[in-house]
Amino acid sequence: MLVIDGSQGEGGGQILRTALALSLQTGKPFRLEQIRAGRQKPGLLRQHLTAVQAAAAVGRAEVAGAALGSTTLEMHPGTVTPGDYHFAVGTAGSAMLVLQTILPPLLTASGVSTLTLEGGTHNPFAPPFDFVADSFAPLIRRMGPSIELELHRPGFYPAGGGKLQVVIHPVGQLSRLDLLDRGPIQRRLARALISIIPRQVADRELACVQQHLGWSEEECRVESVTHPTGLGNVLLLKVETEQVTGVFTGFGERRRSAEQVAQEATDAAMAWLRAGVPVDEHLADQLLLPMALAGGGSFRTVRPSSHTLTNADIIRQFLPVDIRVEQESPLAWQVVVASR
Ligand code: ATP
Repeated sequence: MLVIDGSQGEGGGQILRTALALSLQTGKPFRLEQIRAGRQKPGLLRQHLTAVQAAAAVGRAEVAGAALGSTTLEMHPGTVTPGDYHFAVGTAGSAMLVLQTILPPLLTASGVSTLTLEGGTHNPFAPPFDFVADSFAPLIRRMGPSIELELHRPGFYPAGGGKLQVVIHPVGQLSRLDLLDRGPIQRRLARALISIIPRQVADRELACVQQHLGWSEEECRVESVTHPTGLGNVLLLKVETEQVTGVFTGFGERRRSAEQVAQEATDAAMAWLRAGVPVDEHLADQLLLPMALAGGGSFRTVRPSSHTLTNADIIRQFLPVDIRVEQESPLAWQVVVASR
């Protein structure tokens, strides 16, 4: 059995999610020790536990150690079974990270799946719904499967209450994807999403976007959540280019000014725009797994995060792939995934 050290590299929840997805995909059992040892509150939090339960359900797996706070987990996967599933985190923990766990095996399952997921949809330190729908999913479609996402209700920390549906039409084998250039910018849109937050907060965020990125008023929009479940605010910057769409987010929090929220998003967008590469920091760690399952792929990206490097290490433990990361210029790196 594969024994994985959960404290390696980043020592975070990604090690767990990648191990769950690849165990289902390959049929290899694993034992994960020291889960999230690198985090302030180690062990399984609600969001991680839901990901474990979701993987166990989809993969008809036997699991030991699936409890809140658990720092060791053992999984014996069965058969990946497509179908209709409903998973609720039960807190504001990210439903998008539950999706990140079970999506890969369902992309090549034997039939269609419909997932209903509840929890947080716009959480700091997780992909927001819009990132998955507008940036990640279009690239997955280019690898063969069809994937449709619909946001029924956004969920923010601390109230949660978000809900989304995902329909996946799989393929037998994912095709390789190469993303070396992004091509010209075709459209830009800044959306300040507010839930029971004064409109001025959104206006101030969008004023920063116009000032720092030079976007026009027509490229900026305020959206107020119609049936709010709690307080919430995110600023979402979308840049559509010929090859990819970048989505950069600033997350509103108590005692964080509108200007700080805007700066988080504009700094991330600017780093990507300046580097001239197609793949941003977050897309980089999320593309590794589908590319490894496809047996090959490549992309140009910004400096790889420790998150990306840790994810690459876990993938190498499950799959016979080489993942090479090479610096190309001061701002650009090339990542090549190839079968061994
Ligand atoms: P934890 O142990 O606390 O659960 P973690 O290791 O699971 O942490 P993070 O480093 O917080 O996870 O990242 C989780 C995932 O969310 C990664 O795939 C990362 O790329 C993605 N992510 C984080 N922030 C963003 C963002 N602003 N936009 C898109 N994706 C993001």
